[in-house]
Amino acid sequence: MQSTFKATLEYAQTQDHLDVLHSFRERFLFPQHNGKNTVYFCGNSLGLQSNAVKYLMDCELADWAKYGVEGHFEARSPWFSYHQQFSENLAKIVGAHKDEVVVMNTLTVNLHLLLLSFYRPKNGRYKIIMEAGAFPSDQYAIETQVRMYGYNPDDAIIEIAPRAGEHLIAEEDIQKAIADAGDSLAVVLFGGVNYYTGQLFDMKAICQAAHQVGAYCGFDLAHAVGNVPMQLHDWDVDFACWCSYKYLNSGPGAVGGAYVHERHGNNPDVFRLAGWWGNDESTRFKMKKGFIPQKGAASWQMSNAPIFNMVAHRASLDLFAKAGMKALREKSVRMTAYLEFLLLQLSHLSFTIITPKETEKRGAQLSLLFDARGRELFKALTDNGVIADWREPNVIRIAPVPMYNNFEDCYRFYEILANI
Ligand SMILES: *Cc1c(COP(=O)(O)O)cnc(C)c1O
Repeated sequence: MQSTFKATLEYAQTQDHLDVLHSFRERFLFPQHNGKNTVYFCGNSLGLQSNAVKYLMDCELADWAKYGVEGHFEARSPWFSYHQQFSENLAKIVGAHKDEVVVMNTLTVNLHLLLLSFYRPKNGRYKIIMEAGAFPSDQYAIETQVRMYGYNPDDAIIEIAPRAGEHLIAEEDIQKAIADAGDSLAVVLFGGVNYYTGQLFDMKAICQAAHQVGAYCGFDLAHAVGNVPMQLHDWDVDFACWCSYKYLNSGPGAVGGAYVHERHGNNPDVFRLAGWWGNDESTRFKMKKGFIPQKGAASWQMSNAPIFNMVAHRASLDLFAKAGMKALREKSVRMTAYLEFLLLQLSHLSFTIITPKETEKRGAQLSLLFDARGRELFKALTDNGVIADWREPNVIRIAPVPMYNNFEDCYRFYEILANI
C-alpha cells in the first residue's frame, strides 16, 4: 500500500475520486475556518452532524405538537416502539443478533447496569482485569463497583499496563494475567480500542481466555463502535456498551447502546435492575406486581425512550446501513495508512506515532506523542483550521473518519503541519 502513496494534492484528490463513499461527505456539516471546511479529525471525540438531523428533529417536534400523548402510537415513528428501529442496523455494526442490542441511557450508566448483572463476586471470585490507563469514567465505575461489595480496589482490580518503555499493551500479557488470576477472576473488562493510543485489542482472544478461567468478558466499545468491524456474538462476548456521539455521529451526550449475549439476555434468571420498559410488552401496561423481563438486551431498559435524544442516532444509523461497515473499514484502513505515510515524511518534527503500525491492530486514529512543544504545535494547528484533540501530557490524537473525511483532508493536514 505504502509504496504507491504519493505526497501530492493531485494524488489525494485522485484517491477521493475513486472512493465509493465520497458522496457521504456532502451530507455532513463541517465547522468552518475562514470560510472553508476545517480539517475535522476529531470524530473520535465528537462526530459531525448530518444534514438529516434537523429535518428529523422538526418532524418529532411537529408530531408532538399535533398529537400530544397520542404520538406514542400516531407519530410517523411511533414513540412506543421508537427504540426498536435501531436494532437491525446496530446489530450489523457490532456483529450481533437483533435481540442482543438495545439503545438506552449513556455509556457509563450502561456499564454500571451491566456490571450489576455480570460482576457478582462470590466464593473468592471477585477480581476484575482491565487495561491500565483506561478512560477515567471506566476506572471510576469499576472502582466503585468493587467498593460496593466491600473489596479494596488495589486488591480486586488488576490493571494491565504496557511494559516499561512501551506504549502498547502486549496481547500475551493480557492472556497471562487472565490465566494467572484463574478462579479469582470474575470479569475481564477491556476497551475494544484504547482511547489514548488507538490500540485495537484482539477481543476474541481476550474473551476466550476469560471464559477458560470461568470469568465473564465485557467490552467498552466507545472507540470501537462504528470504527472497526466486530463479531460480538460469534466471539462469544458476554456484554458490551458504547456511546454514540463519537464515530456514530449522534450528537453530544446522545443515547448510548448495550449488547448482551442471547444466552444471558434470554435467561430470566440473570439478575438485572428492572424498570417498566424492560418488562414484557404484553404485560407492561397491566400495572401488576412481578417483573417479567422481555427477551434479550431490551430487558435491561428501565425508562421509556428519550425520543429527542435519539433522533440524530436514527439519522446516523441510516447512513451506516447505507455505507456498510465493510466499505467503511476498507476506506479507513487505506486513509489512515495514507495519513501515516504523509506524517512519516515530516522528519523535521519530533514526534512518535504510538498507535500500532499494523492495520489489524488499529482503527481510524493515530496518536502522535511529542517530545516537547506539542502544546504549541497543537495551537498552531488549530489556528490553521485543523480540529484535532489534545490529551495530557503530550499527545495529539487525529482521526480520519471514513464516513466524512477524505484523502484531501489528510493532505491538507500534512501541508499545514509541514509549514509550521
Ligand atoms: C467517551 C468515553 C466514555 C464517556 O462516557 P459517557 O458515559 O458517555 O460520558 C467512557 N469510556 C470511554 C472508554 C470513552 O471513550
